[in-house]
Amino acid sequence: MKAFSPAEILKIREDFPILQRKVHGDRDLVYLDNAATSQKPLCVIEALNHYYRHSNANVHRGMHALAEEATADYEAARAKVAGFLGAPDPKGVVFTRGTTEAINLVAQSWGQKLQSGDEILISVMEHHSNIVPWQLLAQRTGAVVKAIPLTPTGELDLEAFDTLLGPKTRILALTQISNALGTVNPVKDLISKAKAHGTTVLIDGAQSAPHLPINISELGCDFFACSAHKMCGPTGIGALIASPELLESMPPWQGGGEMIDQVTLESSTWADLPYKFEAGTPNIGDAIGWASAIDYMQELGMERIEATLQALVNDAADRLDQEPGVTLTARPTERGGAVSFWLDGIHPHDVAQLVDQSGVAIRAGHVCCQPLMKHLGHPAINRASYHFYNTPEETGRLLEAIRIARKIFGIS
Ligand code: PLP
Repeated sequence: MKAFSPAEILKIREDFPILQRKVHGDRDLVYLDNAATSQKPLCVIEALNHYYRHSNANVHRGMHALAEEATADYEAARAKVAGFLGAPDPKGVVFTRGTTEAINLVAQSWGQKLQSGDEILISVMEHHSNIVPWQLLAQRTGAVVKAIPLTPTGELDLEAFDTLLGPKTRILALTQISNALGTVNPVKDLISKAKAHGTTVLIDGAQSAPHLPINISELGCDFFACSAHKMCGPTGIGALIASPELLESMPPWQGGGEMIDQVTLESSTWADLPYKFEAGTPNIGDAIGWASAIDYMQELGMERIEATLQALVNDAADRLDQEPGVTLTARPTERGGAVSFWLDGIHPHDVAQLVDQSGVAIRAGHVCCQPLMKHLGHPAINRASYHFYNTPEETGRLLEAIRIARKIFGIS
């Protein structure tokens, strides 16, 4: 599939008001922190504006025009998410605050069936959101968390995976794309191996849903978690996606309004799916904003978004690799939106602050992957992360900013 042409990208950039702004006086903003959160197109900003100006009401319980409109739009957003990600059924789309909450839901609800000695398999490249909920579950149940090691190129060690996947592995919880290294993991193969073992699989799609065409039914995982704010949508909304049968077999994880059928002072029964897992007033406005982001990305075409990002990020990795003083943290065969690196002789935090002075926003730190930092033998990295609205010229601005930083530090 063809990447967007430079003229198409310029046109796309007009949809993102924030990309027109300047920082530190007169510097054109170069936003390369998309793995943390993406920017939002006008249609999303307007969908939020329209909802609060026009239809704001609580959902599901009202018997008036606004409540009916808000409910219809909220449920249409659920159906949109299901369609976009190839979910088996909209009833299997549970709105959450994001990926983190979706994984916690699985660990706290599905996880109740684990027993002492059961194994939870993750990997060394996981985000803290796909580590800590499993550690908490292990503490509660006596289960053990094991991690797939990495190869020197920053990919999963597939031989080690085959050894670690054993009869006690109850769940495999893996990221599809590493937020820190940019590695795209071969999740389809790993899911089918795990399923052949009878292991439940959760895919952390925080970085993949924004970048690749996803079809959860084809992937064959049991749970898929993602966040709207990394895919041009608002913060505070995301989803856990699973089959209704699986969700039906799980107990609720939070109690309150919306998730009940009948309540007496002695006991309660639960609402149908997906409401059983959506206690309290949901995030209606942001679900509607997310639906607008999905419309926007679908109109651009996920195949073209993927092709554009691949070209951008491979070009960025090649040029950073040739830049004096730069060392890439990983050299995966397939890259998602991120390239991370170290600059010889300058701490990553100083690098990020210095390039920011040139208007270039990148990230520095452990990027929520402290076990990965331990594996890399460095406490921090720098990360440039791209979305389809970035350009190769912006990589040029990053390289210029790196040269200035090296000069300031007296390194030539
Ligand atoms: N997993 C990965 C791979 C991520 O990159 C992130 C966020 O950066 C998360 C999980 C957590 O997402 P959220 O903070 O939206 O819940």
